[in-house]
Amino acid sequence: MELEIHDLIKWFEITNERIQQHKDYLTGLDQPIGDGDHGINMARGYQEAVTKLSQAEYQEPSEVLRDASMALLSKVGGASGPLYGTAFLKMSLAVKGLETINAASLVNGLSAALLGIKQRGKAEAGEKTLVDVWGPVVDYISSEESNLRAEDLTSQARMAMERTKEMMATKGRASYFKEKSIGHIDPGSASSYYVFASLAEVWKE
Ligand code: ADP
Ligand code: MG
Ligand code: MG
Repeated sequence: MELEIHDLIKWFEITNERIQQHKDYLTGLDQPIGDGDHGINMARGYQEAVTKLSQAEYQEPSEVLRDASMALLSKVGGASGPLYGTAFLKMSLAVKGLETINAASLVNGLSAALLGIKQRGKAEAGEKTLVDVWGPVVDYISSEESNLRAEDLTSQARMAMERTKEMMATKGRASYFKEKSIGHIDPGSASSYYVFASLAEVWKE
């Protein structure tokens, strides 16, 4: 399986559909442990990203990721905008020059994205952030590489998202809630789950 330019565009389109569909759910997750805007932020940013991707002509996959990154960076806002923007920018740089993205380059790209999120957010595993979904997903795809299964990618991402429920937030707005942040799924981990469930769909097609 290799991802081509149109697969990457499809990835953002499917993610956008899921985010628009679950906008209120994502915002609801951000109410008890944040400021109740995560769904609004992500819906605005992903809508802008797919609009941009539908209008441009691309020569290689890295350009799709770069444009998506710029759209998310400028439109999502909040803490998550720069983090998602950085993730896709780092992924774009990691796959620069490639005509298609195979499993090995997907691992490289997503590893670079994870590193970018960690550096930008100064977050490590277990702090109830995006890292807690991106990290396990990178671990899963690195270990499976050649026989990456779409269903497993989805279930790994879902389980990782669910594990954030029991974590206490020590980064971002949710950290202000200290122990009270326990018992709620991290909003950014939920949106990241949609990102990877959508990636699994294009990987399968
Ligand atoms: P804001 O908190 O500014 O309103 P959002 O609500 O859009 O921004 O995004 C919140 C999400 O961003 C959190 O649920 C968390 O997953 C992620 N996040 C916040 N701070 C960090 C950080 N330092 N590192 C990684 N992810 C973070
Ligand atoms: Mg918020
Ligand atoms: Mg906010």
